[in-house]
Amino acid sequence: MLDTMPDRLPDLLDDADLLPGRGDFAGDGRLAVRDPATGGLVAQVAISGAPQAREAVDAAQAAFPAWSGMLPQDRAAILHRWHRLILDAKEDLARIMVAEQGKPIGEARGEIDYAASFVQFYAEEALRPNIEGITSHLADAEVELWREPVGVAALITPWNFPCAMITRKAAAALGAGCTVVIHPSAETPLSALALSVLAQRAGFPDGVVNTVIGDAATIVGEWTGDKRVRALSFTGSTEVGRLLYRQSADTVKRLVMELGGHAPFIVFQNADLDRAVTEAIKAKFATSGQDCLGANRFYIHRAVYDAFCEKFTAAVEKLTLGMGMDDPDLGPLIHDRQIDKQKAHVADALEKGARLLTGGEVDETLGPLFYKPTVLADVPDEAAIMREETFGPVAALTPFDDEDEVYRRANDSEYGLVAYVHSLDPRRIYRATRALQYGMVAVNRTKVTGAPIPFGGMKQSGIGREGARQGLEAFTEIKYVCRDWG
Ligand code: NAD
Repeated sequence: MLDTMPDRLPDLLDDADLLPGRGDFAGDGRLAVRDPATGGLVAQVAISGAPQAREAVDAAQAAFPAWSGMLPQDRAAILHRWHRLILDAKEDLARIMVAEQGKPIGEARGEIDYAASFVQFYAEEALRPNIEGITSHLADAEVELWREPVGVAALITPWNFPCAMITRKAAAALGAGCTVVIHPSAETPLSALALSVLAQRAGFPDGVVNTVIGDAATIVGEWTGDKRVRALSFTGSTEVGRLLYRQSADTVKRLVMELGGHAPFIVFQNADLDRAVTEAIKAKFATSGQDCLGANRFYIHRAVYDAFCEKFTAAVEKLTLGMGMDDPDLGPLIHDRQIDKQKAHVADALEKGARLLTGGEVDETLGPLFYKPTVLADVPDEAAIMREETFGPVAALTPFDDEDEVYRRANDSEYGLVAYVHSLDPRRIYRATRALQYGMVAVNRTKVTGAPIPFGGMKQSGIGREGARQGLEAFTEIKYVCRDWG
């Protein structure tokens, strides 16, 4: 079912054929997984269609009573084993990710740590009380709220974080007592299969974790139409999110939607400029810019605009672009549509009056998917890059003059995932935090995510939160119990 190229991939994937249900869930077709850095074939994976997607739900539905009825400490023990196995396999998982996704090996290792942290967090959350007593409004009855798992949960994940997006959803759902069907992106099925192999080794009973690979519209369409699937958690573009929202309406599923972003990065005149530059590099170029948290628009106060442009461009010119296993700062983009988007956004901005400070082209010496880290200055608000998600290594800089103006411009977006603010003035930081309509506000730093925090966006960046206690909400129902002693 899984043919991997010799010497390319760790043995971990040899066991993918042994996954419970894989024989049933796999059809006749093959999906070619290619290395975005070289275009070379990495593996061929057997793909499934609608019948296998249904069988996966059958398996998850059959496994649900025993899994949800298991003592929380026993479920937690299996999650803890999965956590340990993921960390023990960090190097193998990171190499698989580099092969199919292209990201630098250092970033891939960091993602495995991040992915594992959700499994550990929800193993511990599984032990927290799931019954809450509340003060009764009745003289002769006591009332309680029980939190119960919803049933089968469908998890649909993108290619930019092939492991962490799966564990962020799966660990919460499994810890809550749900069983899961997982559809990973067609670009990165191997990371998903490797996590499934480790889940099987950790001891999840058959039918609890089911990974189905194939045409997204067919498989996910099957699940959105299936009333046995009670929750759907999706990470991906706002466009596909809207579609799944509509498709889930007929069966009234509980939804988590982690959608697109278009982060503003605001630097006030009294910011620590060197620090702002260092953090701006991270906010723009991590994951080669293919990050929903990636800064798309940089608003720099006019008093420090020229200095910022100069320092930032100098820092960008030092960034290295290369093959993932050499651990450069940036790797290739995932496919040619991503390259087309960079080219279109740069051309449009230049046509509308922006200046190119560095980059602005593919590095052909490396290959067709390597786009040079790019800085554009004086980008007008009308440019497409100021509204549409670029999802690549192009930074758009623009000056601003006063606070109200920058909040208005920063909030003028259909997205509301994360905003970055740089200032050393506490009052201004407070006003900015209040004014920005974003699910997450990061002040004087870039990396703010982690398993204990509720990750998610406002407006069309999504619905619900992942991580933290809040990450359990979509996978649980509240049952109100009123016991009469009269
Ligand atoms: P995408 O929306 O194209 O695909 C995401 C997933 O949806 C994939 O598994 C894909 O197979 C599936 N899918 C695609 N078309 C479908 C259809 N018609 N029906 C059902 N399923 C379908 O997104 P992508 O290109 O893989 O990822 C990039 C996007 O993800 C960006 O917009 C980014 O901002 C977003 N993202 C958001 C977060 C977050 O937490 N908010 C995190 C990472 C990525």
